[in-house]
This record gives sequence, C-alpha cells and structure tokens, in this order.
Amino acid sequence: MGVGVDVHPFASGRELHLAGLHWPGETGLAGHSDGDAAAHACCDALLSAAGLGDLGGLFGTADPRWSGASGVTLLAEAARHVRAAGFEIGNIAVQIIGNRPKLASRRAEAEKALSAAVDAPVSISATTTDGLGLTGRGEGLAALATALLF
Ligand code: MG
Repeated sequence: MGVGVDVHPFASGRELHLAGLHWPGETGLAGHSDGDAAAHACCDALLSAAGLGDLGGLFGTADPRWSGASGVTLLAEAARHVRAAGFEIGNIAVQIIGNRPKLASRRAEAEKALSAAVDAPVSISATTTDGLGLTGRGEGLAALATALLF
C-alpha cells in the first residue's frame, strides 16, 4: 500500500489539466509540469507503495526533461519504475479535493485516461471542503491517492 498527496495553486492564463484530461474554460494549475495534481498524487502513491521514494526524487524540477511534462506521462513512467522493481499494480484510488471543476460528467473519461497510463484500474472521486481551507477558498486543488501493489 502506498499513499500520495499533491496540491497545486490555480494560475490564471494556464490551461487546466487534471486527472489526465484537458478542461477547456477552467482555470489552470501552476507547476513545473502541467500541474495535474490527481496524476501526481497517483505517481506518489505508486512510488510510496513500492518503496521507491517520491515524485520529486524521480522527476526532479531541476531536470529539463520533465519541464512541462503531462501528468499522464509522469504516471506512465512511475508505473514503469514500479514494474521494473518487481511489482504489479492492483489498483489506484484518487480523490480530488476542490470546488471546480465538477468531475461527475467526465469521471468515466478521466478514469479511462489514468487507467490507460498505468495499465491498471484507477478510480476517481471528488469532494469539497465546504468552503474551508485553500481548496475551499478556491486557491487551488488537492488530490489524495492510495495505490495497492502485489
Ligand atoms: Mg504536483
């Protein structure tokens, strides 16, 4: 079992990439890469479960190869590392915490995108914090993921 958390602030003028999807018309997230907090939390959960450290260690912000990399690209690469270490991926569950975007209408599409990246089932849920904290104030998005390996 592994766990991963990620948070990114909203940044005007950026496109939103979240859970492996592009969200036209939504405010984007700042970050060294595309800021896909859901994909990044999944990466950290995979690496945590395998004892392979974390996203920052594998894809350092000093490494220009990963500048602007999509969350899906990083997730596929994390899955490759986990399998190279001798594990198979059972599933990943990720919860997105924030006010927008509303996930429901695109949940199936997002689950398909992340599942394809890891070649294992990824389930996605969403919640708000009832106006509390950084996500409640609309300052950014958070994501929490767990991964099961065998
Ligand atoms: Mg991140």
